[in-house]
Formats: sequence, structure tokens, C-alpha cells
Amino acid sequence: MSNQFILRDVSKSYGATPVLTGINLSISQGETVAIMGPSGSGKSTLLHCMSGILQPSSGAILFGGRDIAQLDDAHRSKLRLTQFGFVFQDGQLLPELTAVENIALPMILTGSSKSRARRAALELLEKLGLAQLANRRPAKMSGGQAQRVAVARALVANPAVIFADEPTGALDQPTGHEMMQLLTSLVAASGTTLIMVTHDAKVASWLNRRVEIRDGIIHDDRMMGGELR
Ligand code: ADP
Repeated sequence: MSNQFILRDVSKSYGATPVLTGINLSISQGETVAIMGPSGSGKSTLLHCMSGILQPSSGAILFGGRDIAQLDDAHRSKLRLTQFGFVFQDGQLLPELTAVENIALPMILTGSSKSRARRAALELLEKLGLAQLANRRPAKMSGGQAQRVAVARALVANPAVIFADEPTGALDQPTGHEMMQLLTSLVAASGTTLIMVTHDAKVASWLNRRVEIRDGIIHDDRMMGGELR
């Protein structure tokens, strides 16, 4: 409840070009939400505004009762580090770090000791059945393995919310399916909110709610029972 997201009349323009117009949206803790819509409709912009990467041009983005649009850069960075986890299309693991080191990084950045972070990362890898990847660098992983490590990294510091931008975009369908299974079972177990941009209805069918954006406005917003699966 305290980690509810409430967007009130959020708009974002680039120069004179409006990209989001008057978005009103409320997302409760533990919901899993697909943000869908055609390319260029404003999905990523919405995700970036909610995750504190971009500042909206107007409107309020309340998270846990605080307007993150009003926070200064330092506080927004802190919020991202401590409350949010991120999964991107190509994983964006640091190439010079092993799987364990990549996963441990968010914990180290939020003040955990290296040994504690390493232990938590290893435990998570073991739990996910990926212990064999522990000392491997991303160049030696398959796309699916790298994405699973990226999921572990997003979750290791127990964030309230995971933001994912086309996380299956670079994977073939069975591998994407496996990744969605892993991600949705982990967020369900921890009560983490999941907000995911995807253009793929099959991927969206893993989530409980579908918000469709067209030309920067919410065109449709519906609960899904996972009935497509
Ligand atoms: P989607 O994720 O739905 O494909 P985006 O949110 O990435 O859409 O982009 C929405 C619109 O905003 C597009 O027309 C895009 O060209 C424009 N846009 C995105 N980022 C910028 C930027 N930094 N500067 C100017 N225009 C941008």
C-alpha cells in the first residue's frame, strides 16, 4: 500500500512536441503491469518518468506518497538505487564483471559490504539454478543466461518495484518464455511490483494488467487473468 504509484495528470514534451498528455494511473504494490502500444507512442518515456530517469514536464508522480517529480537529482538517484530494480533489453551487464560481481553491485552501491553482497548474489544464483555461471563474464553467457543474471541483479537488493523495458526483445520465444516465468515467479514471491514495456501480447499475458498507450494517452487499461497463456 505504501509503495503505491499514483500518476496525476502527467505530461511530457520534448521541446514543443508532446509525448505524454495528461496520464492518470494508479498501480498498487505487487501488481504486474504491461505497458503496451505502438512504437513511438510514449511507452519508454512513461517508464522513464515513473522510474525517475526523466522528469515530466508537468503533473505529479507519487510513489509511497512522495512526488518523485519534485525530488532533486541526488534524491532521485537514491530512490532508484534503494527502491527500484531495472531489466533492459540487452541485459546491460558490466562486461568486465562476473555474474556474481554484476549481481552484487546494486547491494554494494547501497552500502552492503562486498562479502555480504557476494554471498547474497551467490545464494540467489544457486536458488535460480545458475550457480555454474557464478564466475563467468557476460561475453561467455548465452543471451538467455545473461538476461537471467540481469533479473537476479534487478532483484538482489529487494526493490519495491522492477522496471523492465522490452526485457525479452533480444531473446527467441522459448528463452523469452523462460525469462518471463523466472521474473514473474520471483516478483510474485516477494510482492514486488513489476512494470514492463512490451509490444508482445504473449509476453504481456504473463502479467496481471495491461495499460495501452496510443499517442501519449492511455487508450485502454484492463486487468488480465493470464488467460492467454
Ligand atoms: P515508445 O517507447 O512507445 O516507442 P518513446 O517513449 O520512446 O516511445 O518515444 C515517444 C516519442 O518521443 C517518439 O516520437 C520519440 O521519437 C520521441 N522521443 C523520445 N525520446 C526523445 C528525446 N530524447 N528527444 C526528442 N524526442 C524524443
